[in-house]
Amino acid sequence: MTEPTPRHIAIVGSGPSGCFVAQALKRTWKDAEITVFDRLAAPYGLIRYGVAADHQHTKAITRQFDRAFANGDVRFAGNIEIGSDLSLDELREAFDLVVLASGRWRDRMLSVPGSRLEGVLPSGDLINALNAVPRPAIPMPAIGERVVVVGAGNVAIDMVRFLIKTADDYAGSDVAPEALDQYLAAPAKRVTVLSRSPIASAKADVAMVRELAKVPGVRFTYANTSPAAADNALGVKREQAIAALADLEVDDPRVEVHFVFGAEPGRVTGDGRVEKVHLAAAPAGEPTVIEADTVISAIGFDVNAPGHWHYAEDIDFAPSEHGFLEPGLYRAGWLKRGPHGAIPANRADSVEVAKEIVADVASGRTPIADDRGGYESLPQHVRDRAVSFEQWLRIDTAEAKQAGDDRIRRKFIDHDEMVAVAHG
Ligand SMILES: Cc1cc2nc3c(=O)[nH]c(=O)nc-3n(C[C@H](O)[C@H](O)[C@H](O)COP(=O)(O)OP(=O)(O)OC[C@H]3O[C@@H](n4cnc5c(N)ncnc54)[C@H](O)[C@@H]3O)c2cc1C
Repeated sequence: MTEPTPRHIAIVGSGPSGCFVAQALKRTWKDAEITVFDRLAAPYGLIRYGVAADHQHTKAITRQFDRAFANGDVRFAGNIEIGSDLSLDELREAFDLVVLASGRWRDRMLSVPGSRLEGVLPSGDLINALNAVPRPAIPMPAIGERVVVVGAGNVAIDMVRFLIKTADDYAGSDVAPEALDQYLAAPAKRVTVLSRSPIASAKADVAMVRELAKVPGVRFTYANTSPAAADNALGVKREQAIAALADLEVDDPRVEVHFVFGAEPGRVTGDGRVEKVHLAAAPAGEPTVIEADTVISAIGFDVNAPGHWHYAEDIDFAPSEHGFLEPGLYRAGWLKRGPHGAIPANRADSVEVAKEIVADVASGRTPIADDRGGYESLPQHVRDRAVSFEQWLRIDTAEAKQAGDDRIRRKFIDHDEMVAVAHG
Protein backbone atom coordinates (compact mmCIF):
# COMPACT_ATOMS: atom_id res chain seq x y z
CA MET A 1 0.00 0.00 0.00
CA THR A 2 1.37 3.45 -0.84
CA GLU A 3 1.71 5.90 2.00
CA PRO A 4 -0.76 8.80 2.09
CA THR A 5 0.74 12.02 0.72
CA PRO A 6 -0.59 15.46 1.51
CA ARG A 7 -1.17 17.45 -1.66
CA HIS A 8 -2.01 20.84 -0.16
CA ILE A 9 -0.05 22.27 2.75
CA ALA A 10 -0.58 25.72 4.28
CA ILE A 11 1.92 27.50 6.46
CA VAL A 12 0.85 30.59 8.40
CA GLY A 13 3.74 33.03 8.72
CA SER A 14 6.69 33.61 6.37
CA GLY A 15 9.27 34.21 9.11
CA PRO A 16 12.28 31.91 9.20
CA SER A 17 10.35 29.14 10.97
CA GLY A 18 7.58 28.99 8.38
CA CYS A 19 10.11 29.08 5.53
CA PHE A 20 12.29 26.37 7.10
CA VAL A 21 9.24 24.12 7.61
CA ALA A 22 8.25 24.67 3.96
CA GLN A 23 11.78 23.75 2.86
CA ALA A 24 11.87 20.60 5.00
CA LEU A 25 8.40 19.36 3.96
CA LYS A 26 9.15 19.99 0.29
CA ARG A 27 12.19 17.74 0.59
CA THR A 28 9.93 14.85 1.65
CA TRP A 29 6.85 15.57 -0.44
CA LYS A 30 8.22 16.96 -3.71
CA ASP A 31 4.82 17.11 -5.41
CA ALA A 32 3.00 18.80 -2.55
CA GLU A 33 1.68 22.30 -3.17
CA ILE A 34 2.93 24.41 -0.26
CA THR A 35 1.56 27.90 0.36
CA VAL A 36 3.09 30.25 2.91
CA PHE A 37 0.63 32.93 4.04
CA ASP A 38 1.56 36.20 5.68
CA ARG A 39 -0.47 39.15 6.91
CA LEU A 40 2.20 41.48 5.52
CA ALA A 41 2.95 42.13 1.86
CA ALA A 42 6.64 41.34 2.36
CA PRO A 43 7.97 37.93 3.36
CA TYR A 44 10.39 36.87 6.10
CA GLY A 45 8.92 38.14 9.38
CA LEU A 46 11.49 39.32 11.89
CA ILE A 47 14.38 38.75 9.48
CA ARG A 48 13.11 41.79 7.60
CA TYR A 49 11.39 43.54 10.49
CA GLY A 50 13.30 42.68 13.70
CA VAL A 51 16.95 41.92 12.91
CA ALA A 52 18.81 45.24 13.12
CA ALA A 53 19.10 47.22 9.89
CA ASP A 54 22.90 47.31 10.18
CA HIS A 55 23.07 43.50 10.33
CA GLN A 56 22.51 42.80 6.64
CA HIS A 57 24.75 39.72 6.81
CA THR A 58 22.08 38.11 9.05
CA LYS A 59 19.27 39.13 6.74
CA ALA A 60 21.08 37.49 3.80
CA ILE A 61 19.69 34.13 4.93
CA THR A 62 16.53 35.01 3.01
CA ARG A 63 18.28 34.26 -0.30
CA GLN A 64 17.74 30.54 0.12
CA PHE A 65 14.03 31.14 0.69
CA ASP A 66 13.90 33.47 -2.32
CA ARG A 67 15.03 30.58 -4.49
CA ALA A 68 12.24 28.27 -3.27
CA PHE A 69 9.59 30.94 -3.90
CA ALA A 70 11.05 32.02 -7.23
CA ASN A 71 11.31 28.55 -8.73
CA GLY A 72 7.75 27.69 -7.74
CA ASP A 73 8.56 25.08 -5.10
CA VAL A 74 6.65 27.12 -2.57
CA ARG A 75 3.92 29.77 -3.07
CA PHE A 76 3.99 33.04 -1.15
CA ALA A 77 0.57 34.56 -0.38
CA GLY A 78 1.14 37.86 1.39
CA ASN A 79 -1.49 40.35 2.56
CA ILE A 80 -3.68 37.54 3.89
CA GLU A 81 -4.14 37.57 7.64
CA ILE A 82 -5.46 34.35 9.08
CA GLY A 83 -8.18 35.26 11.53
CA SER A 84 -9.19 38.40 9.60
CA ASP A 85 -9.04 37.83 5.84
CA LEU A 86 -9.51 34.08 6.12
CA SER A 87 -10.48 32.02 9.15
CA LEU A 88 -8.39 29.14 10.39
CA ASP A 89 -11.39 26.85 9.80
CA GLU A 90 -11.61 27.92 6.16
CA LEU A 91 -7.90 27.32 5.78
CA ARG A 92 -8.13 23.87 7.33
CA GLU A 93 -11.07 23.01 5.05
CA ALA A 94 -8.95 23.73 1.98
CA PHE A 95 -5.61 22.21 3.02
CA ASP A 96 -4.53 18.73 4.15
CA LEU A 97 -2.13 20.17 6.67
CA VAL A 98 -1.78 23.56 8.35
CA VAL A 99 1.39 24.64 10.15
CA LEU A 100 1.11 27.78 12.28
CA ALA A 101 4.35 29.78 12.40
CA SER A 102 2.98 33.21 13.23
CA GLY A 103 5.65 34.03 15.82
CA ARG A 104 5.15 35.66 19.17
CA TRP A 105 6.97 38.86 19.70
CA ARG A 106 5.80 41.44 22.19
CA ASP A 107 8.17 43.15 24.60
CA ARG A 108 8.03 42.27 28.25
CA MET A 109 7.18 45.65 29.76
CA LEU A 110 9.16 47.25 32.55
CA SER A 111 6.99 47.02 35.65
CA VAL A 112 8.43 49.27 38.32
CA PRO A 113 6.59 52.31 39.72
CA GLY A 114 6.69 55.09 37.14
CA SER A 115 7.24 52.83 34.17
CA ARG A 116 4.10 54.18 32.48
CA LEU A 117 5.57 57.68 32.36
CA GLU A 118 6.09 59.19 28.93
CA GLY A 119 9.60 58.43 27.72
CA VAL A 120 9.71 54.89 29.09
CA LEU A 121 9.76 52.86 25.88
CA PRO A 122 9.86 49.19 25.01
CA SER A 123 12.71 48.49 22.59
CA GLY A 124 10.11 47.28 20.09
CA ASP A 125 8.96 50.86 19.45
CA LEU A 126 12.41 51.81 18.18
CA ILE A 127 12.99 48.54 16.39
CA ASN A 128 9.71 48.89 14.53
CA ALA A 129 10.44 52.50 13.56
CA LEU A 130 14.00 51.73 12.38
CA ASN A 131 12.86 48.67 10.44
CA ALA A 132 9.88 50.48 8.86
CA VAL A 133 7.35 47.98 10.15
CA PRO A 134 3.94 48.62 8.56
CA ARG A 135 0.48 47.53 9.75
CA PRO A 136 0.70 49.47 12.08
CA ALA A 137 3.61 51.83 11.41
CA ILE A 138 5.12 53.22 14.62
CA PRO A 139 6.72 56.68 14.43
CA MET A 140 10.18 57.18 15.92
CA PRO A 141 9.78 58.41 19.48
CA ALA A 142 11.70 61.43 20.85
CA ILE A 143 14.84 60.21 22.63
CA GLY A 144 16.90 63.07 24.15
CA GLU A 145 20.51 63.26 25.30
CA ARG A 146 20.47 61.04 28.40
CA VAL A 147 19.27 57.52 27.82
CA VAL A 148 19.00 54.57 30.17
CA VAL A 149 18.83 51.13 28.54
CA VAL A 150 17.48 48.43 30.83
CA GLY A 151 18.73 44.95 29.92
CA ALA A 152 21.98 43.53 28.59
CA GLY A 153 20.89 40.89 26.10
CA ASN A 154 21.41 41.07 22.34
CA VAL A 155 18.42 43.35 21.77
CA ALA A 156 19.75 45.77 24.42
CA ILE A 157 23.09 45.77 22.60
CA ASP A 158 21.21 46.41 19.30
CA MET A 159 19.75 49.46 21.07
CA VAL A 160 23.17 50.67 22.25
CA ARG A 161 24.59 50.29 18.73
CA PHE A 162 21.73 52.34 17.36
CA LEU A 163 22.18 55.05 20.01
CA ILE A 164 25.90 55.51 19.30
CA LYS A 165 26.10 55.13 15.54
CA THR A 166 26.26 57.95 12.99
CA ALA A 167 24.65 58.07 9.53
CA ASP A 168 27.90 56.83 7.92
CA ASP A 169 27.78 53.66 10.02
CA TYR A 170 24.63 52.59 8.15
CA ALA A 171 26.29 52.24 4.74
CA GLY A 172 24.81 49.26 2.93
CA SER A 173 21.85 49.02 5.32
CA ASP A 174 18.11 49.47 4.85
CA VAL A 175 17.48 51.57 7.96
CA ALA A 176 14.33 53.72 7.77
CA PRO A 177 15.77 57.14 6.85
CA GLU A 178 13.11 59.31 8.51
CA ALA A 179 13.45 57.48 11.83
CA LEU A 180 17.25 57.64 11.72
CA ASP A 181 17.37 61.32 10.67
CA GLN A 182 14.98 62.27 13.43
CA TYR A 183 17.19 60.59 16.00
CA LEU A 184 20.49 61.86 14.59
CA ALA A 185 19.23 65.46 14.62
CA ALA A 186 19.68 65.32 18.43
CA PRO A 187 21.42 62.08 19.36
CA ALA A 188 22.19 60.72 22.82
CA LYS A 189 25.27 62.01 24.60
CA ARG A 190 25.21 59.66 27.59
CA VAL A 191 23.87 56.12 27.56
CA THR A 192 23.67 54.10 30.79
CA VAL A 193 23.07 50.39 30.40
CA LEU A 194 21.62 48.61 33.43
CA SER A 195 22.09 44.88 33.69
CA ARG A 196 20.58 42.95 36.58
CA SER A 197 23.23 40.24 36.19
CA PRO A 198 26.96 40.70 36.61
CA ILE A 199 28.93 40.65 33.35
CA ALA A 200 29.67 36.94 33.66
CA SER A 201 26.00 35.95 33.39
CA ALA A 202 24.67 38.83 31.26
CA LYS A 203 22.88 37.57 28.16
CA ALA A 204 24.63 39.39 25.31
CA ASP A 205 26.76 37.38 22.90
CA VAL A 206 30.45 38.22 23.16
CA ALA A 207 30.54 39.01 19.42
CA MET A 208 27.78 41.59 19.91
CA VAL A 209 29.78 43.30 22.67
CA ARG A 210 32.96 43.28 20.59
CA GLU A 211 31.14 44.83 17.65
CA LEU A 212 30.54 47.99 19.69
CA ALA A 213 34.28 48.72 19.53
CA LYS A 214 33.97 49.36 15.79
CA VAL A 215 31.91 52.51 16.31
CA PRO A 216 34.30 55.49 16.50
CA GLY A 217 34.01 58.37 18.93
CA VAL A 218 32.51 56.48 21.87
CA ARG A 219 33.94 56.28 25.39
CA PHE A 220 32.93 53.14 27.27
CA THR A 221 33.13 52.67 31.04
CA TYR A 222 31.65 50.06 33.32
CA ALA A 223 31.00 48.95 36.88
CA ASN A 224 30.48 45.35 37.87
CA THR A 225 29.55 43.37 40.96
CA SER A 226 30.93 39.84 41.17
CA PRO A 227 33.65 38.74 38.75
CA ALA A 228 33.33 35.53 36.74
CA ALA A 229 34.54 32.30 38.32
CA ALA A 230 37.75 31.12 36.67
CA ASP A 231 36.02 28.03 35.22
CA ASN A 232 33.27 30.13 33.59
CA ALA A 233 35.01 30.46 30.22
CA LEU A 234 32.16 32.34 28.56
CA GLY A 235 31.79 34.71 31.51
CA VAL A 236 35.52 35.45 31.44
CA LYS A 237 35.35 36.14 27.67
CA ARG A 238 32.44 38.50 28.16
CA GLU A 239 34.34 40.33 30.90
CA GLN A 240 37.34 40.63 28.61
CA ALA A 241 35.15 42.04 25.85
CA ILE A 242 33.70 44.70 28.16
CA ALA A 243 37.15 45.53 29.55
CA ALA A 244 38.48 45.88 25.98
CA LEU A 245 35.77 48.46 25.26
CA ALA A 246 36.79 50.44 28.34
CA ASP A 247 40.45 50.26 27.23
CA LEU A 248 39.76 52.02 23.93
CA GLU A 249 41.49 55.38 23.76
CA VAL A 250 39.01 58.03 22.73
CA ASP A 251 39.75 61.76 22.76
CA ASP A 252 36.80 64.06 22.84
CA PRO A 253 34.04 61.41 22.60
CA ARG A 254 30.73 62.19 20.88
CA VAL A 255 28.91 59.94 23.28
CA GLU A 256 29.65 58.04 26.49
CA VAL A 257 28.30 54.60 27.32
CA HIS A 258 28.39 53.43 30.91
CA PHE A 259 27.52 49.79 31.65
CA VAL A 260 26.36 49.07 35.19
CA PHE A 261 26.27 45.34 35.88
CA GLY A 262 24.43 44.13 38.95
CA ALA A 263 22.02 47.07 38.85
CA GLU A 264 18.25 47.11 38.90
CA PRO A 265 15.83 49.97 38.41
CA GLY A 266 13.52 50.35 41.44
CA ARG A 267 11.35 53.21 40.17
CA VAL A 268 11.16 55.90 37.56
CA THR A 269 10.14 59.43 38.48
CA GLY A 270 9.32 62.60 36.60
CA ASP A 271 6.64 65.20 36.10
CA GLY A 272 4.60 63.57 33.33
CA ARG A 273 7.75 62.43 31.54
CA VAL A 274 10.68 60.41 32.84
CA GLU A 275 13.36 62.49 34.60
CA LYS A 276 15.13 60.05 36.91
CA VAL A 277 15.74 56.35 37.30
CA HIS A 278 16.21 55.24 40.93
CA LEU A 279 18.18 52.04 41.33
CA ALA A 280 17.04 49.36 43.76
CA ALA A 281 20.44 47.70 43.53
CA ALA A 282 23.82 48.93 42.27
CA PRO A 283 27.51 48.05 42.55
CA ALA A 284 29.37 49.78 45.39
CA GLY A 285 30.28 53.36 44.61
CA GLU A 286 27.77 53.77 41.76
CA PRO A 287 25.20 56.57 41.93
CA THR A 288 21.74 55.23 42.71
CA VAL A 289 19.87 57.95 40.85
CA ILE A 290 20.38 58.48 37.10
CA GLU A 291 18.99 61.45 35.23
CA ALA A 292 17.32 60.39 32.01
CA ASP A 293 15.29 61.79 29.14
CA THR A 294 14.35 58.32 27.94
CA VAL A 295 14.37 54.80 29.34
CA ILE A 296 14.46 51.98 26.79
CA SER A 297 13.63 48.57 28.20
CA ALA A 298 14.99 45.49 26.46
CA ILE A 299 14.21 42.86 29.07
CA GLY A 300 12.96 40.04 26.92
CA PHE A 301 9.64 39.12 25.39
CA ASP A 302 6.24 38.37 26.86
CA VAL A 303 5.46 34.67 26.34
CA ASN A 304 1.73 35.12 26.84
CA ALA A 305 1.14 38.42 25.08
CA PRO A 306 -2.14 38.21 23.19
CA GLY A 307 -2.47 39.02 19.53
CA HIS A 308 -0.42 36.41 17.74
CA TRP A 309 -3.08 33.72 17.69
CA HIS A 310 -6.33 35.67 17.55
CA TYR A 311 -7.23 33.20 14.79
CA ALA A 312 -7.57 30.41 17.37
CA GLU A 313 -8.36 31.71 20.86
CA ASP A 314 -9.53 28.27 21.96
CA ILE A 315 -6.18 26.54 21.35
CA ASP A 316 -3.57 26.34 24.12
CA PHE A 317 -0.38 27.97 22.81
CA ALA A 318 1.73 27.45 25.93
CA PRO A 319 5.31 26.75 24.80
CA SER A 320 5.84 23.08 23.98
CA GLU A 321 8.49 20.78 22.56
CA HIS A 322 5.90 19.26 20.21
CA GLY A 323 4.59 20.73 16.98
CA PHE A 324 1.33 18.74 17.10
CA LEU A 325 -1.80 20.70 18.11
CA GLU A 326 -4.59 18.61 16.55
CA PRO A 327 -4.68 16.11 13.68
CA GLY A 328 -3.70 18.17 10.63
CA LEU A 329 -2.74 21.22 12.68
CA TYR A 330 0.84 21.95 13.82
CA ARG A 331 2.98 24.84 14.98
CA ALA A 332 6.62 25.82 14.68
CA GLY A 333 9.16 28.46 15.69
CA TRP A 334 8.54 31.04 18.37
CA LEU A 335 4.86 30.18 18.38
CA LYS A 336 5.84 26.68 19.45
CA ARG A 337 8.87 27.14 21.70
CA GLY A 338 8.27 30.64 23.03
CA PRO A 339 10.07 33.84 22.08
CA HIS A 340 13.71 32.85 22.44
CA GLY A 341 16.46 31.58 20.20
CA ALA A 342 18.01 32.97 17.06
CA ILE A 343 17.38 32.03 13.44
CA PRO A 344 19.58 28.87 13.42
CA ALA A 345 17.57 27.51 16.36
CA ASN A 346 14.43 27.88 14.25
CA ARG A 347 15.99 25.91 11.45
CA ALA A 348 16.67 22.96 13.76
CA ASP A 349 13.23 23.25 15.32
CA SER A 350 11.46 23.44 11.96
CA VAL A 351 13.24 20.32 10.73
CA GLU A 352 12.01 18.51 13.86
CA VAL A 353 8.44 19.70 13.30
CA ALA A 354 8.59 18.52 9.69
CA LYS A 355 9.78 15.08 10.86
CA GLU A 356 6.94 14.97 13.38
CA ILE A 357 4.42 15.78 10.65
CA VAL A 358 5.80 13.16 8.27
CA ALA A 359 5.68 10.52 11.03
CA ASP A 360 2.11 11.49 11.96
CA VAL A 361 0.94 11.23 8.36
CA ALA A 362 2.60 7.84 8.02
CA SER A 363 1.03 6.56 11.26
CA GLY A 364 -2.43 7.94 10.47
CA ARG A 365 -2.43 10.29 13.47
CA THR A 366 -2.96 13.00 10.89
CA PRO A 367 -5.25 11.40 8.29
CA ILE A 368 -5.09 12.77 4.74
CA ALA A 369 -8.42 13.24 2.98
CA ASP A 370 -8.50 13.07 -0.79
CA ASP A 371 -10.85 15.92 -1.60
CA ARG A 372 -9.12 19.12 -0.48
CA GLY A 373 -8.91 21.86 -3.08
CA GLY A 374 -5.84 23.74 -1.79
CA TYR A 375 -5.07 27.35 -2.58
CA GLU A 376 -7.14 27.44 -5.78
CA SER A 377 -10.25 26.54 -3.79
CA LEU A 378 -10.02 29.60 -1.52
CA PRO A 379 -12.66 32.29 -2.11
CA GLN A 380 -11.85 34.50 -5.11
CA HIS A 381 -11.85 37.69 -3.02
CA VAL A 382 -9.12 36.20 -0.79
CA ARG A 383 -6.96 35.17 -3.72
CA ASP A 384 -7.53 38.61 -5.28
CA ARG A 385 -5.98 40.37 -2.32
CA ALA A 386 -2.96 38.08 -2.14
CA VAL A 387 0.50 39.41 -2.90
CA SER A 388 2.38 36.68 -4.76
CA PHE A 389 6.15 36.29 -4.71
CA GLU A 390 6.44 37.85 -8.18
CA GLN A 391 4.36 40.77 -6.95
CA TRP A 392 6.52 41.10 -3.84
CA LEU A 393 9.51 41.40 -6.17
CA ARG A 394 7.94 44.58 -7.57
CA ILE A 395 8.01 46.03 -4.05
CA ASP A 396 11.56 44.76 -3.65
CA THR A 397 12.66 46.41 -6.89
CA ALA A 398 10.93 49.70 -6.06
CA GLU A 399 12.56 49.74 -2.62
CA ALA A 400 15.99 49.17 -4.13
CA LYS A 401 15.35 51.93 -6.70
CA GLN A 402 14.37 54.48 -4.10
CA ALA A 403 17.34 53.67 -1.80
CA GLY A 404 19.45 56.74 -1.11
CA ASP A 405 23.24 56.90 -1.35
CA ASP A 406 24.98 54.06 0.45
CA ARG A 407 21.74 52.23 1.25
CA ILE A 408 20.54 48.98 -0.25
CA ARG A 409 16.84 49.79 0.00
CA ARG A 410 14.37 52.29 1.31
CA LYS A 411 11.48 50.31 2.71
CA PHE A 412 7.91 51.37 2.24
CA ILE A 413 6.27 51.96 5.56
CA ASP A 414 2.65 52.07 4.41
CA HIS A 415 1.02 48.66 4.00
CA ASP A 416 -1.59 49.84 1.48
CA GLU A 417 1.10 51.50 -0.64
CA MET A 418 3.05 48.24 -0.67
CA VAL A 419 -0.01 46.32 -1.82
CA ALA A 420 -0.69 48.94 -4.51
CA VAL A 421 2.89 48.65 -5.82
CA ALA A 422 2.63 44.84 -5.73
CA HIS A 423 -0.64 44.78 -7.63
CA GLY A 424 0.68 47.30 -10.15
C1 LIG B 1 14.36 42.69 17.81
C2 LIG B 1 14.85 41.32 17.39
C3 LIG B 1 16.11 41.21 16.83
C4 LIG B 1 16.58 39.94 16.47
N1 LIG B 1 17.82 39.85 15.92
C5 LIG B 1 18.29 38.64 15.56
C6 LIG B 1 19.58 38.51 14.94
O1 LIG B 1 20.30 39.48 14.75
N2 LIG B 1 19.97 37.25 14.57
C7 LIG B 1 19.18 36.14 14.76
O2 LIG B 1 19.58 35.02 14.40
N3 LIG B 1 17.97 36.23 15.34
C8 LIG B 1 17.50 37.45 15.73
N4 LIG B 1 16.27 37.55 16.32
C9 LIG B 1 15.49 36.32 16.53
C10 LIG B 1 14.72 35.92 15.27
O3 LIG B 1 14.15 37.04 14.67
C11 LIG B 1 13.67 34.87 15.64
O4 LIG B 1 14.34 33.73 16.13
C12 LIG B 1 12.79 34.45 14.45
O5 LIG B 1 12.41 35.53 13.64
C13 LIG B 1 11.54 33.72 14.91
O6 LIG B 1 10.95 33.21 13.73
P1 LIG B 1 9.41 32.86 13.54
O7 LIG B 1 9.29 32.47 12.11
O8 LIG B 1 9.00 31.90 14.58
O9 LIG B 1 8.61 34.23 13.82
P2 LIG B 1 8.59 35.60 13.03
O10 LIG B 1 9.90 35.92 12.44
O11 LIG B 1 7.99 36.58 13.99
O12 LIG B 1 7.57 35.37 11.82
C14 LIG B 1 6.19 35.29 12.02
C15 LIG B 1 5.46 35.70 10.74
O13 LIG B 1 4.07 35.41 10.88
C16 LIG B 1 3.31 36.46 10.32
N5 LIG B 1 1.97 36.43 10.94
C17 LIG B 1 1.66 36.69 12.23
N6 LIG B 1 0.33 36.53 12.43
C18 LIG B 1 -0.21 36.16 11.23
C19 LIG B 1 -1.54 35.85 10.81
N7 LIG B 1 -2.59 35.89 11.66
N8 LIG B 1 -1.75 35.54 9.50
C20 LIG B 1 -0.70 35.50 8.63
N9 LIG B 1 0.58 35.78 9.00
C21 LIG B 1 0.83 36.10 10.28
C22 LIG B 1 4.12 37.70 10.66
O14 LIG B 1 3.79 38.80 9.81
C23 LIG B 1 5.54 37.19 10.44
O15 LIG B 1 5.95 37.40 9.11
C24 LIG B 1 15.78 38.79 16.68
C25 LIG B 1 14.50 38.93 17.23
C26 LIG B 1 14.03 40.18 17.59
C27 LIG B 1 12.66 40.30 18.17
